[in-house]
Amino acid sequence: MQRVAVLGSTGSIGTTALRVLARHRDRFAVQALTAHGNAVLLAEQAAAWKPPFIALVEGDGAVPSAWRRGAGALVDAATLPEVDVVLNAIVGAAGLDATLAALGAGKRVALANKESLVVGGALVEAAARRGGGEVVPVDSEHSAILQCLGTRSAADVRKLVITASGGPFREWSAERVRAATVQDALQHPTWSMGRKITVDSATLANKALEVIEAHFLFGLGYDQIDVVVHPQSIVHSMVEFRDGSVLAQLGVPSMELPILYALSHPERFDDAGIPAFDAVAAGRLTFEAVRREAFPCLSLGVAAGRAGGAAPTVFNGANEEAVALFLAGRIAFGGIAEGVEAALERHAGLAGGTLEALWHADAQARHTVRERFGCL
Ligand code: NAD
Ligand code: MG
Repeated sequence: MQRVAVLGSTGSIGTTALRVLARHRDRFAVQALTAHGNAVLLAEQAAAWKPPFIALVEGDGAVPSAWRRGAGALVDAATLPEVDVVLNAIVGAAGLDATLAALGAGKRVALANKESLVVGGALVEAAARRGGGEVVPVDSEHSAILQCLGTRSAADVRKLVITASGGPFREWSAERVRAATVQDALQHPTWSMGRKITVDSATLANKALEVIEAHFLFGLGYDQIDVVVHPQSIVHSMVEFRDGSVLAQLGVPSMELPILYALSHPERFDDAGIPAFDAVAAGRLTFEAVRREAFPCLSLGVAAGRAGGAAPTVFNGANEEAVALFLAGRIAFGGIAEGVEAALERHAGLAGGTLEALWHADAQARHTVRERFGCL
């Protein structure tokens, strides 16, 4: 029996994960549930799963006295001696501390929180080495790559090809994209996800985060990681090996399989609840180049990854802040890329290295974005 802590249980990935776990009660027990502010849903989940550890990070109003409160509860949940697997489904840099703590305590981290690797990739690697923990990706592209790699190492790989749906603005002119509304940006063509990642999918910042995530997960250089647009979201990514052979992993766009695989890896479990793939129903699969001029966040983010140091942290912090301002109706869609670019211009040279340095860079990036748009 594997005991799982689900961090961010009330979100899109968290609720999907609990649906998957409910079909595998013979193999998994839920030991901890944490949420940010949705006390009502957390209480429902607590009643269904009766985990010994429950935490609500924020939110006012009365909660059961047994519940933990405050951000420190995330690290407590991630390091419980009874926990074997930490499913990190928190959104944003707020997930980093729990990832580091879980790896340091020797846990498997089923990682949906890609921001952990973008903000603190080198520290995440070091924590895993030190504590004996391992990261298994939940992100569908990285799950696909892991499945294609099998037992092969980075030395056998020529390149990775990460697929992108292209988002809701795939065919829009660059000018029209810049003026897109919140409602436009939240209409993702193939995936149903939380609001932040849905906006990231519209700007393609999400693909930049995924390129950086792949760099750290698979130990490949940025020249070896390509992005291609694949509007149907059936091919979840591809690996080209040194002899030119290309393997891809296919499936309907559902996070249930990558979540299950992050828990079962390297094994595979029966699961009739995972939507079956039908090649004929899938029909035509098409691929096209990314229109980088219309989606500047992709190149900005990959350049930040290449620059290293605190640059990816700056990219992420600026993006989180700009997306929050966009969702609050305070800046235009095009302002997201502008804010990210301004923060990178000013702070990309900041040092990484320590957690303190990275949080400093994160704060500087957020400040620069708010200042630029008069939102201090
Ligand atoms: P979401 O907004 O639906 O859920 C986020 C969860 O994290 C919620 O339970 C919320 O309570 C919690 N949370 C938010 N802020 C927090 C904070 N400051 N401290 C503690 N908990 C906090 O987001 P999501 O779509 O489920 O995405 C979660 C993560 O998974 C993101 O990193 C995203 O990039 C990644 N991801 C999501 C999908 C998807 O299909 N939704 C696919 C791939 C990767
Ligand atoms: Mg993804």
